[in-house]
Amino acid sequence: MSGINDDIKLIDENGIRIDGRKADEMRPLKIEAGVLKRADGSAYLEWGKNKVIAAVYGPRECHPRHMQDPAKAIVQCRYNMMSFSVSDRKRPGPDRRSIEISKIISEALEYVVFTENFPRTSIDVYIEVLQANAGTRVAGLTAASAALADAGIPMKDLVPAVAVGKADGHVVLDLNKEEDNFGSADLPMAMIPRTGEVLLMQMDGHLTMEEFDKGIEYAKKACQEIYEIQKDALRRRYADQGGSDETDDEFSSIDEEA
Ligand code: UDP
Repeated sequence: MSGINDDIKLIDENGIRIDGRKADEMRPLKIEAGVLKRADGSAYLEWGKNKVIAAVYGPRECHPRHMQDPAKAIVQCRYNMMSFSVSDRKRPGPDRRSIEISKIISEALEYVVFTENFPRTSIDVYIEVLQANAGTRVAGLTAASAALADAGIPMKDLVPAVAVGKADGHVVLDLNKEEDNFGSADLPMAMIPRTGEVLLMQMDGHLTMEEFDKGIEYAKKACQEIYEIQKDALRRRYADQGGSDETDDEFSSIDEEA
């Protein structure tokens, strides 16, 4: 987000955004669970133009050992953006932003996993952003919690997440890249709809109290919607395929040859 830019009109006189959405409308979201054979759990997500994959291993022995907690498991998340995920080639490897995002996602997930059931272990979560168009941290967290559930890790609940913000003076749900770049506020958050617990909230820019409240209302409603899509992905994985590891017959023959 680089501040308000008067040259770019993000919302027209009818309140319609540049991608045709209304202020409180989310981009289309699709989630598929159990897409990787080698990981203990996985999920692939497309959210507007974002494409994100999450893979989970564990609980497994924690390395390095000095990081082990004798009382509980630790959740270690690595959020990574592929070089080709953004318009300018992204330099490979961790940077300040990805380290921050990995930390906040780890903390949100650690809150829902029953970590005390698995002392001394590590639950490793890998998030790869294949294509980015704003909102990748919330997309990553949404995919990662579905992947944790797919791995069969006991959790209090799934963690749906979404960003709200402000563009051309309007509070908007689920910012796209232009709104993220040229809007005046970005507020990613994660919430458990069942309990109302907030597991992630960051704020960039400025909102009045009224705008903030409106944003929270939008986010609450969207989290409920995302939660249903997450549950549906898991239901499809386990009901339709009988919990089988065969995620896709077309790919299994390639796997066998490898
Ligand atoms: N972005 C980029 N290059 C980078 C980091 C981010 O082009 O090195 C883009 C990408 O589309 C991302 C957006 O900027 O989704 C917004 O980034 P932000 O840090 O706000 O995180 P996000 O909204 O993805 O959670």
